Amino acid sequence: MCDCLFCKFVSGEIPVNKVYEDDKMIIIRDINPQAKNHFLGIPKAHFKLISEATPEQVAMIGECLKTISSLTEELSLQNGYRLVINQGDDAGQTVFHLHIHILSGQKMNWQPA
Ligand code: AMP
Ligand code: ZN
Repeated sequence: MCDCLFCKFVSGEIPVNKVYEDDKMIIIRDINPQAKNHFLGIPKAHFKLISEATPEQVAMIGECLKTISSLTEELSLQNGYRLVINQGDDAGQTVFHLHIHILSGQKMNWQPA
């Protein structure tokens, strides 16, 4: 048994509202939005870090990014968007199942700390 929250979303063990699903990923709304629209693209395959991804997993992530970019209406991407993958402490990663943050619906400022 995989003790991973996002694996449980993917398998259906924990029910979650899916905005989108295909054979590679699900997309859900983030429970703690950091922008007007904040979605999470969650690959169905479990791996923790982009730095540990195999070439096949990197290719799969690329396909997920392309799919995300095509979901204009579903994800409110009309006026632009930001895609983020957090890795490690400095980025504030809290869930160790790689996922893509999809932020949209507002102007986003980005100031260095
Ligand atoms: P990260 O900090 O990059 O690991 O992102 C994890 C994200 O998962 C955070 O933005 C959380 O708000 C989000 N999250 C945690 N639990 C849930 C949940 N039950 N449903 C939706 N999003 C969640
Ligand atoms: Zn997982």
